[in-house]
Amino acid sequence: MQKRRSALVTGSTSGIGLAIAGELAARGMNLMLNGFGNAAEIEAQRTRLAHDHGVEVLYDGADMGRQDAIETMMSRAAQQLGGIDVLVNNAGIQHVAPVDEFPVEKWHAILAINLTAAFHTTRLALPHMKFNQWGRIVNIASAHALVASPYKSAYVAAKHGIAGFTKTVALEVAEAGITANAVCPGYVLTPLVEKQIPDTARARGITEEQVKRDVLLAAQPTKRFVTTEEVAQFVAFLCSDAAASITGTVLSIDGGWTAH
Ligand code: NAD
Repeated sequence: MQKRRSALVTGSTSGIGLAIAGELAARGMNLMLNGFGNAAEIEAQRTRLAHDHGVEVLYDGADMGRQDAIETMMSRAAQQLGGIDVLVNNAGIQHVAPVDEFPVEKWHAILAINLTAAFHTTRLALPHMKFNQWGRIVNIASAHALVASPYKSAYVAAKHGIAGFTKTVALEVAEAGITANAVCPGYVLTPLVEKQIPDTARARGITEEQVKRDVLLAAQPTKRFVTTEEVAQFVAFLCSDAAASITGTVLSIDGGWTAH
């Protein structure tokens, strides 16, 4: 019988990453979860995934903004899961401010977590993937890897950067059975986005429904949020054997946003 594959999903304690982790576990993969949050809730998620799907699930709270923490997490994954076969770089943060007022420390944090972390996990995961002549790397980018919005300079720079990084890695490992792709969601209703709605409604003097439709979904032609389940299924397909010829791509799942 084939050994279970092992997946690391960074930022998998919430939102898109949590849904991806659930989908990969449902497809029989052992998991390394990562991200911040309430320790008891994370432990409950970890045991639920392990119990529901009969797979091994570990958790490492490495700060993806720190090289040393990423290195420690990756050596743990090598020792306790036998290496990472499927790497999903998902952890991400946002900060919104005009470029001439953008806090320098926020710029560095966004670039570190949304871009440089993927360089570190990738360089540390690749030797095992190359040895096995099989691997899957999926980088959760954004529609902002393809188009810009004002006041999101660091996020847009990091997401455009991850698209270029993904293509470069894909070319380097194409003959080793390893694929690398970037997935670009439009607006997904995660806790991160949900939290912004009441504040925006108050600030603009409009209803929460108007915020969703006229502010958040203004550029999303379907006028509905992409769901975490849709992103998770898409990513899981890219991580399957059937997706062996899909590599070096920057794939949209954005309700038509970037068709404008
Ligand atoms: P979220 O806030 O719900 O989840 C983010 C995850 O990253 C959490 O698990 C959090 O703990 C973790 N994280 C944050 N900083 C970290 C750090 N320093 N080290 C380790 N983990 C850290 O957000 P989400 O909406 O699920 O976003 C996930 C990814 O999807 C991000 O890369 C984001 O840019 C991207 N994305 C989101 C949307 C959207 O509309 N929600 C759209 C496009 C792309």
